[in-house]
Amino acid sequence: MQEKYNPQAIEEKWQRQWGEEKSFKAAEDMGGKKYYCLEMFPYPSGKIHMGHVRNYSIGDVAARFLSMRGFNVLHPMGWDSFGMPAENAAIQHGVHPAKWTSENIASMRTQLKRLGLAYDWDREIATCTPEYYRWNQWLFLKFFEKGLAYQKQSAVNWCPECATVLANEQVEGGNCWRCDTQVEQKNLKQWFFRITAYSEELLEHCDKLPGWPEKVLIMQKNWIGKSIGAEVDFKIENLDEVIKVFTTRPDTLFGATFMSLAPEHPMAEKLVGVKPAPAGSKQGGQGTRVKKFIEKVKKQGRTEGSRNL
Ligand SMILES: [Zn+2]
Repeated sequence: MQEKYNPQAIEEKWQRQWGEEKSFKAAEDMGGKKYYCLEMFPYPSGKIHMGHVRNYSIGDVAARFLSMRGFNVLHPMGWDSFGMPAENAAIQHGVHPAKWTSENIASMRTQLKRLGLAYDWDREIATCTPEYYRWNQWLFLKFFEKGLAYQKQSAVNWCPECATVLANEQVEGGNCWRCDTQVEQKNLKQWFFRITAYSEELLEHCDKLPGWPEKVLIMQKNWIGKSIGAEVDFKIENLDEVIKVFTTRPDTLFGATFMSLAPEHPMAEKLVGVKPAPAGSKQGGQGTRVKKFIEKVKKQGRTEGSRNL
């Protein structure tokens, strides 16, 4: 036995052998004990960091322990490779996102292999490849056929300089994190999943979860946010439209004195034009002031209200 541990000599030798012999390949075998060890697929940002090493070492210990105990272990690795960093790199460095992503994957794969993690590399996937995302598309079509995917207008953060939509994390103090331009709110048609169609089922199952702390179950129920009530149409003077208001207490409508619209509500702009300014008004009519307010709010970044749409 060598006195000194020489990683270059020892690790490379064994890692090569594991690769050649496919030592960690999961066999499809319906009998026997099985174990599926899935950590998480990293985003291919370019380099493996210590957070990855910690996470994947823990999974590796579990996978090796169980295969030594006779389990047929499936331990795969892949890349969660669609996302904003590729888009940002493309804009910043003028490099095609596909090139940037595949180069990052190649260098991170090399790093993971050098760690000697026990993956079945034959099952590697990358979510940005057509072979993978065709299944996302297939699932989307199934949702669409069942009426569970639909489009509606919703406010988004918009950078007029970059001409892109920004995630909330990309807005810093009301400005674009990339170019510091003031972010605007823009109404765009977007896709949504009708998860509310499952609120009843989700609620029912909350009561069938043993061992969960009451606090977590209450949070879950609040998140599902089921509320029984009615949608009431309020007619608008001088306009052939209605404002739909949801209420849990339609019996108290007699007491209603006002309703408020979010500034990004498409009707807010329409309503502004309805009432003319009183003669001799110095501040400008109500319309001008409301318009100014809408502009001001638009530049403050996304409001809490629109985030919860
Ligand atoms: Zn920008």
